[in-house]
Amino acid sequence: MAIQTIGIVGAGSMGSGIANLAAMNGFQVILRDIQEHFLDNALKRMDQFMSKSVSKGKLTEEQKQETLERIQTTTTLEDMKNADVVIEAVIENLDLKKEVFSQLDQIMPEEVILATNTSSMSITEIAAATNRPERVAGMHFFNPAQLMKLVEVVRGYQTSDETVEELKALSKQLSKEPVEVKKDSPGFIVNRIMIPQFIEAIKLLEEGVASAEDIDKAVTLGLNYPMGPFTLQDFAGVDIGYYVMEYLKEELNNNQFAPPLLLKQLVRAGRLGKKSGAGFYDYK
Ligand code: NAD
Repeated sequence: MAIQTIGIVGAGSMGSGIANLAAMNGFQVILRDIQEHFLDNALKRMDQFMSKSVSKGKLTEEQKQETLERIQTTTTLEDMKNADVVIEAVIENLDLKKEVFSQLDQIMPEEVILATNTSSMSITEIAAATNRPERVAGMHFFNPAQLMKLVEVVRGYQTSDETVEELKALSKQLSKEPVEVKKDSPGFIVNRIMIPQFIEAIKLLEEGVASAEDIDKAVTLGLNYPMGPFTLQDFAGVDIGYYVMEYLKEELNNNQFAPPLLLKQLVRAGRLGKKSGAGFYDYK
C-alpha cells in the first residue's frame, strides 16, 4: 500500500524534524506529543527552519504554509489510526518505548509498520512489546532530520525482508540515503563508531591535554569533520550521549563504553546540553 500519511510519536528535536521533513516531501503528517505546549514548540521550530529556507530563496512562503497545513497535531495516541506507517521519537527510555509500541499495536491495523528512531536500543526488545515483530524496525534519522542525508534502517531479530525494503523505499521518498543494519546491534553503525570518539575527546579534556575548543578544532581540521565532538554533543544534548554510553557498556559487556566522570558530572549537575542551557562549552 502506498504510504500517504506518516504518524510520528514524540514532537521533540527529532520528532519535529522528521514531521517537517515528511511534510516537505508531500506526506500528510499526524504528530503526537503528551502536552499541547510540546506541539506548539515543534510547530514554531518548523516555522523557523522553513523561514530560513524562504530567506535563502530555497522555498516560497506559499510552500512553507502548505507544508505546515499538511501537519495535524494531537495529544491523543488513537489519532494515529489514520496513519499508514508510524515513526516513534519519544525520549531514549526503553520502558517508555515499549509502552508506546504496545499501545500502538492495539490501535494500528496489523499490516502497519511501527518504526523507532532510537539511537541505540534493542529493536528486538521494542518489537517484543507488540504482536507484529516482523513489522517493527529501526528507522534512525540524524539531527537535524531535515538536513542530514542518512537513515539507518535496522532489523530486529524478527523483522521481515518486506518491512526493511518498505522502509528503505520510504527513506528515499523522504529524500534520504538508507543503509541497512543487518543485525540488531546496540548503537547500530554510526553511534558504535562515534561514541568511542566522544569518550576519547572527553578524556583528553579531563586529562588537560587540550581545551574543548582546540579538540573541536583539531577534529574539524584534521579529520575534515563538519563539527567537533563537543559542539556536536552540546547540540544534541549531553544527556543523550551519556545514556547511549551506559547502554552500549551494558549490552556489549564492555567498559570501554563507560561514560567518563566529566560527562557524568555534567549530567548529574542537570547541565543537560543546550536544551537546558549548558554543555561542554559552558563547563568550567
Ligand atoms: P526530545 O527530548 O527532544 O523529545 C522527546 C519528546 O517525546 C518530548 O517532546 C516528550 O514530551 C515526548 N514524549 C515523551 N513521552 C511521550 C509519549 N508517551 N508520547 C508522545 N510523546 C512523548 O528527544 P529527541 O532528541 O527528539 O530524541 C527522540 C528519540 O530520537 C530518542 O530515542 C533519541 O535517542 C533519538 N535520536 C535523537 C537524536 C538527537 O540528536 N537528538 C538523533 C537521532 C536519534
